[in-house]
Amino acid sequence: MIAHHSDALIIGGGHNGLVCAAYLAAAGLKVTVLERRPVVGGAAVTEEFHPGFRNSVAAYTVSLLNPKIIRELELAAHGLRVVERRLANFLPTEDGRYLCVGAGRTSTEVAKFSPPDAARLDAYSLKLDRIAAVLRELVLQTPPNVVAGGWRQALPELLRAARLGGRISKLDMSLRRELLQLLAASAGDYLDGWFQSDPIKAVYGFDGIVGNYASPYTPGSAYVLLHHVFGEVNGKKGVWGHAIGGMGAITQAMARSAAARGADIRVGAAVREVLVERGRAIGAVTETGEAFHASAVISNLNPRLLYLKLLDAAVLPTDFRERMARWRCGSGTFRMNVALSELPDFRCLPGRESADHHTAGIIIGPSLAYMERAYFDARTRGWSAQPIVEMLIPSTLDDSLAPAGQHVASLFCQHVAPQLPQGESWDQHRDAVADLMINTVDAHAPNFKASVLGRQIMSPLDLERTFGLIGGDIFHGALSLDQLFSARPMLGHGNYRGPLPGLYMCGSGTHPGGGVTGAPGHNAAREVLIDFRRRRLRAGHRTA
Ligand SMILES: Cc1cc2nc3c(=O)[nH]c(=O)nc-3n(C[C@H](O)[C@H](O)[C@H](O)COP(=O)(O)OP(=O)(O)OC[C@H]3O[C@@H](n4cnc5c(N)ncnc54)[C@H](O)[C@@H]3O)c2cc1C
Repeated sequence: MIAHHSDALIIGGGHNGLVCAAYLAAAGLKVTVLERRPVVGGAAVTEEFHPGFRNSVAAYTVSLLNPKIIRELELAAHGLRVVERRLANFLPTEDGRYLCVGAGRTSTEVAKFSPPDAARLDAYSLKLDRIAAVLRELVLQTPPNVVAGGWRQALPELLRAARLGGRISKLDMSLRRELLQLLAASAGDYLDGWFQSDPIKAVYGFDGIVGNYASPYTPGSAYVLLHHVFGEVNGKKGVWGHAIGGMGAITQAMARSAAARGADIRVGAAVREVLVERGRAIGAVTETGEAFHASAVISNLNPRLLYLKLLDAAVLPTDFRERMARWRCGSGTFRMNVALSELPDFRCLPGRESADHHTAGIIIGPSLAYMERAYFDARTRGWSAQPIVEMLIPSTLDDSLAPAGQHVASLFCQHVAPQLPQGESWDQHRDAVADLMINTVDAHAPNFKASVLGRQIMSPLDLERTFGLIGGDIFHGALSLDQLFSARPMLGHGNYRGPLPGLYMCGSGTHPGGGVTGAPGHNAAREVLIDFRRRRLRAGHRTA
C-alpha cells in the first residue's frame, strides 16, 4: 500500500476543515484534506435541486461567519459577496395581522401589538448587543482547558481563565446578571421578562429553538438565542444576509483560498479509519484503502463520528469513550428547498410582486406557546400538525438561483423528532411531512402550494446520510451548558485536542459550536501550529 505523507491531514472538507486547511497551509505546512462527498463545503453547499433552480441545500443564511476569517482568507477576492436582506423577519400572526422586524421599522411594528413592548426594544437590544460584543471576543479564543495534573499544567489554563474573567469584568453588574440568565434560563422565561406581546417574543424566541430540539421554555435555550446574535454582515452587527450564489459560494471561496495557499483538497475520499501507532494518531485510511500519513490528523467531523466510528475502541480511554457515546446530538430539523413559479401572496400582506417581506426570514410560528406545542407534539408523535417553518426566498436577492421571474425558497422546519417514536424510519414519512410543511405555508399564502414546481426534502435521516450530521444535528452536538466552551466536546478536551496525541478536532463540535462561523477551524489551526512549534523547539534542543 502506497502511503501519502503530509504535515497535516484534515478529515472532512466542511467549511471548518477548509478554514483550518487555509491557515495551516498559509503557515507553510503541507496540508491534505479528505472529503467524503463529491463536493467540499459540508452543510454549506449550493446545488441544482430542480432543473434550472439552485439553492443552498442545508445552511441557507449568513451572519456568524467571522469577519477576521473573511479578511485573512481573502474570501472576497476569491469570489464571496454577501448582501443584506431588506427586512430581517416577517411573522404572520394568529389574528391575521403581521409583524415586520428590521432596521428602522421594528419599533413602529411592535407598537401595533404593544406600545410598552415597543418602548422596551432599545433597552433589550442594547443589553444583548453589549453581551454579544464580549462573547464575540471569545469566539476566536481557545477556552481554558480543565486539566488534570500539577501546577505546571494548570498555570497556563488559569492565566487563560483569568484573561476570560477580565473580559467578563468589562460588563457592569447589571449586564453580568443578564449574562447569567442568558446562560442558564430558557429563551421563553427570558423574553417573558422583557415583553408582553406574542409576535415579538416569537421572532426573538425562534432563535432559541433553531437547531435546538427543545421547548422555548427549556432551560438553556436562552443561550441558543444569544448564539444567533453574535454575527454580523458587512460590519453590521446582529444582521443576517445572503451569500450570492448560496452558501456554496462561501465554501468554494474557502476552498480556492486554501488551494491558493497550497492545500491539496481531495473529494470522493471517505475516511474509513484513523491510524494509530503506539498511542499516537499517525494518519488515516480511506474506504478505498489509500493510506495518508501526517504528523497532525485533524477531524472536521461530529466528535461522536470520529471517536466511535473511525477509531478502534481499544485505543481510547474507557471513560472518554463512554462519555462520547452520551454526546447529545439531534436537532429537530426538517429542511426543504422548493422551486416556485411565483412569489407567495400572503393573506395578511397581499402581493405577488417582490416586496421587502419576501426578502425576510418568514417565520410561521406565531407565539412561544405554539413553538412549545410543536416540540411536545414532536416528542410524542414525531412531528406536529402545526409545525414551525422559517421560509427564506433568496432569489429575491440573488437572480443567479432561478430562471427570470421564478424563485427558490428554503424551508427550515423546526421540531420534528430526530428519531421517530416506535422505531419508525423517516423514509416512511418524509413525503407526508413535506406535504404538511407546504400546506402550513399555504395556509398563510394560498397560492403557495400551486406554485411549487419541484422540491428537495431533507429529513433528519437524510441530513445524517448526506452530510454525516448525526440525528440531523446542525451544530454537531447540542449547544447546552454541559457541551459548551471548555466542555465542548468534553471537559479536559476543550482545546481542540482529544486524548490521543496527534489527533485534533476542528469542527462544530468544538468551541464556539455550530453555524457557518469558521471559528473552530481557525482556532484548531492555531493549536496545531503551537504544537508544531513546540515539537520543532524540542527537536532543536535535542540536536543542539
Ligand atoms: C439544515 C441546516 C440549516 C442550517 N442553517 C444554517 C444557517 O442558515 N446559517 C448558519 O450559519 N449555519 C446553519 N447551519 C449550521 C451550519 O451549517 C453547520 O453548523 C456548519 O456548516 C458545520 O460546519 P463544519 O465544517 O463544522 O461541519 P460539516 O459542514 O458537517 O462538515 C463536515 C464534513 O466532513 C465530511 N465527512 C463526514 N464523514 C467523513 C469521512 N468519514 N471522511 C471524510 N469526510 C467526511 C462531511 O461530508 C462534511 O463535508 C445549518 C445546518 C443545517 C444542517
